[in-house]
Amino acid sequence: MQDCIFCKIKDGVIPAKKLYEDNNFFVISDIEPKCKNHYLAIPKNHYKLLADMNKSDIKILGEIFATVPKLEKILNLQSGYRLIINQGSDAGQSVFHLHIHILSGQKMNWTPA
Ligand code: 5GP
Ligand code: ZN
Repeated sequence: MQDCIFCKIKDGVIPAKKLYEDNNFFVISDIEPKCKNHYLAIPKNHYKLLADMNKSDIKILGEIFATVPKLEKILNLQSGYRLIINQGSDAGQSVFHLHIHILSGQKMNWTPA
């Protein structure tokens, strides 16, 4: 997808250290961390929103959710972590290539508003 930051990172056009990569997705550190550790799990296929995924595409999320807990040492997940998927403007989504935020490394509050 042209002009998509995460597609460009996937293709190496924009540099970013991939902490993990397989056929379905890759993990990078967020450029503006909102937590002690802030990573992004990014599917290699370009989906703007969950709503753009069909039933087969959704299986990729299952693969990601099954894999992330196995990355506990790389992503510092040992003491707990939080996954967030922002969808649309109310949620503050700023990059319209579906991605999962992975927050870890500190106690977190729970105040979205
Ligand atoms: P959203 O707001 O769409 O849920 O999350 C997008 C995230 O991507 C933000 O937390 C933002 O800091 C991060 N981000 C935007 N551009 C880049 C970039 O070029 N490199 C990296 N590593 N993260 C980025
Ligand atoms: Zn993209």
